[in-house]
Amino acid sequence: MAKRRTSRRRRKTSLTPFQTAVFSLVGLCLALGLWVGAASGVGAAPTWQEIYTAVGLAEPLPAADLPENTDAVHFIDVGQADATLLQSGGEYCLVDAGETDSEQALMSYLEQMGVTRLKLLVMSHPHADHIGSMAAVLENLEVEQVLLPDFDKAPYPTTRLFEKVMDAIEASGATVSTAAAGQSYPVGSGSLQVLAAGVETDNYNDLSQVLLFESGELSVLLSGDGEKPVEQAALEAGVVPRADVFKAAHHGSDTSNTMEFLQAIRPQYIAVSCGLGNSYGHPHAEPMERFELIGAQVLRTDQDGSVVIASTENGLQSYTSNASKAKEAA
Ligand SMILES: [Zn+2]
Repeated sequence: MAKRRTSRRRRKTSLTPFQTAVFSLVGLCLALGLWVGAASGVGAAPTWQEIYTAVGLAEPLPAADLPENTDAVHFIDVGQADATLLQSGGEYCLVDAGETDSEQALMSYLEQMGVTRLKLLVMSHPHADHIGSMAAVLENLEVEQVLLPDFDKAPYPTTRLFEKVMDAIEASGATVSTAAAGQSYPVGSGSLQVLAAGVETDNYNDLSQVLLFESGELSVLLSGDGEKPVEQAALEAGVVPRADVFKAAHHGSDTSNTMEFLQAIRPQYIAVSCGLGNSYGHPHAEPMERFELIGAQVLRTDQDGSVVIASTENGLQSYTSNASKAKEAA
């Protein structure tokens, strides 16, 4: 009896490889045809992003309609990892490059954004969730300059992944600099400033720089996975400014995001880059309470997908790929 049921089910659902290929092709053409048909109605040709989205290969791109010269920060959804794209005057800076598993998501996002060249690529610190896809970025994009953490402050990294990234940096021909407080790197009409460059440590998180990106009306503060010693040192040096946007340090961990640091920044938006159901429990409840206490609007890549905060005619606006998805479904 069981045997007959199994065979009946197999007969009902099995397709020859040829049939599968034909059905897939028909489905793809139908999706594309529907899309092109809809687009031609309003006189616009579909972009690759729109085609990817139509056939379910990519998340909708948040803020897809904004012009290329917009001042914006993109917290790309790369799971339990970091990849932050800074945009100004048609130029781009990428701070960290996700983990190895997020290569497809990161490269797809950059391709959809039309990013073929990076003015600057920053490594906050050498952990795998920040450099995992950095070699792929260096191999696929033209990178003008790479900014490394100050490795004199910690034991030099020896992982295979780190060596692979350093080889890719050398092969890319990019100019390489070591982060030091007071440096400023131009990006479009804005700049990326190094406010602090990590502390003496045997914890790689604390090699993370404190960076300020400013362009037009937008200011963004990034401190990688810097923990309390990084925040304390920057506060003591008196270099922590007010900023519109803050990337929750260390994926929203309670090892970071002290009240004193948050009160100095007083951000309007806080973006948490973390993976859904991650094993670290990020973001932790205590920093989330502090984010609420200082009155910041919190956006999370695990719930909102990729998050963009951009300067528009109406002031700063936030966009998320999950909201774009909802808009499409409506
Ligand atoms: Zn991390």
